[in-house]
Amino acid sequence: MVDATANIGVVGLAVMGSNLARNLASREGNTVAIFNRSHEKTDTLLSEHPEAKFVGTTTYEEFAASLTKPRAAIVMVQAGNGTDAVIEELTKVFEPGDIIVDGGNSLFTDTIRREKAVRETGINFVGAGISGGEEGALLGPSIMPGGSDESWVTLGPILESIAAVAEGEPCVTHVGHDGAGHFVKMIHNGIEYADMQLIGEAYDLIRRGTGKSPAEIAEIFTAWNTTELESYLIEITAEVLKQVDAKTGKPLVDVILDQAGAKGTGAWTVQTALDLGIPVSGIAEAVFARSLSSKPAQRAAAADLPGPDEAWTVEDTDAFIEDVRLALYASKIIAYSQGFDEIVAGAEQYDWDIHKGDIAKIWRGGCIIRAQFLNRITEAYADDAGLVALLTAPYFRDAIAGAQDSWRRVVSTAAAAGIPAPAFSSSLSYYDGLRADRLPAALTQGLRDFFGAHTYKRVDMDGTFHTLWSGDRTEIESEGSSH
Ligand code: NAP
Repeated sequence: MVDATANIGVVGLAVMGSNLARNLASREGNTVAIFNRSHEKTDTLLSEHPEAKFVGTTTYEEFAASLTKPRAAIVMVQAGNGTDAVIEELTKVFEPGDIIVDGGNSLFTDTIRREKAVRETGINFVGAGISGGEEGALLGPSIMPGGSDESWVTLGPILESIAAVAEGEPCVTHVGHDGAGHFVKMIHNGIEYADMQLIGEAYDLIRRGTGKSPAEIAEIFTAWNTTELESYLIEITAEVLKQVDAKTGKPLVDVILDQAGAKGTGAWTVQTALDLGIPVSGIAEAVFARSLSSKPAQRAAAADLPGPDEAWTVEDTDAFIEDVRLALYASKIIAYSQGFDEIVAGAEQYDWDIHKGDIAKIWRGGCIIRAQFLNRITEAYADDAGLVALLTAPYFRDAIAGAQDSWRRVVSTAAAAGIPAPAFSSSLSYYDGLRADRLPAALTQGLRDFFGAHTYKRVDMDGTFHTLWSGDRTEIESEGSSH
């Protein structure tokens, strides 16, 4: 039998698991037990990194025996059935007080289910969202763990040792109980979808409006990265646009098929938002824009549908580019504001004590949406923990006030030119909807009452009302407590 020398274990040694195991082993004080279903991956990791403090194991029993108590293992396997299979094996060899961490991209409702089932054995189960892709796993991801307070005592220092560091602080916090971590990771990914879609729309408008080449637009994004838009995604947009295809000598972006893929976390964010009744229109448009792009037959059939008659050219290029930059910033504020609304609604629904300012903090490093602007979100929640809508915080209110003329020009220009800008325009409509004094929802209520007797409320008295709509009778019946 092996000695218990490892303070942390990793199960699943594909790209994410092996990088996370290497990250863990590189930190002072950690010895890492490693296990993979097929032993080749374990052997490869051991032989490629002989210096790393790994304990290679070939059975779940050996894996458990190599861990000090309370045992803690991070599972990095295929989400879904693979995760369930590994949890089942680990619960057979672990003991009450031990900790199983699912670091994969699991749906938060699966995490709630698993946590409940594993808790009955006395073992702690932690769903931890890990963002940053393979590079993040190796060098320092942003980590969003849920699970019990008890598990955080053991896990906290270990996860803090491997997380990215932003402005001196590790990008990890105990998000909340059971599925809270995976819920927040899901919202992170939803915001990532919106952020990328907005960047795509900005690029498309500049390219088609000014005729600039991808390499020239890369320069624009590099310049934008010194403004309030400074972020990882803006930075890598410049890298992608600069890239030249080795085969053809063309800009690489021009030879990449324009059909965007998705692994489902954006759709989960929108599906969950629909269940919670939270409008995340920017994220939804981003998910749908990928779906639309990936319908080649429909796109081919629609290719000769008419657009605007007149060709579109921008008169003042610099002014237009600045308008697009501000439209991007304003729309991005909406996407984050909507994402945080969903976090608030999820926390209420599932009884999680989520500190929104801390979430913004742990997204400042290691993850895909890392951005300078997250400091402003942390500050907004620090100033007012009960902030009802992020975009009403003074900083964001002022930012949108300064951007809105540009934003409106960009959206109307895109519509007139026949260029799709779904995330820009839906974000602007959301903003105008939220700030409207009166909404046509009153008419909607009238229609619902007309065909379905769904009743309505009045602006001038309490109670619930139904109108007898036949002929010219406008008789009002009241229901409920008030007459
Ligand atoms: P993956 O391709 O999602 O999964 C492959 C791993 O799962 C292999 O180690 C495989 O073992 C194991 N596995 C599958 N079914 C199993 C079962 N029934 N029993 C035991 N092991 C099983 O790996 P990945 O790309 O490294 O991702 C791991 C997790 O991280 C996933 O949940 C993924 O969604 C998440 N994630 C990935 C990224 C990314 O950028 N790739 C980013 C964030 C999060 P064998 O080698 O024996 O087949």
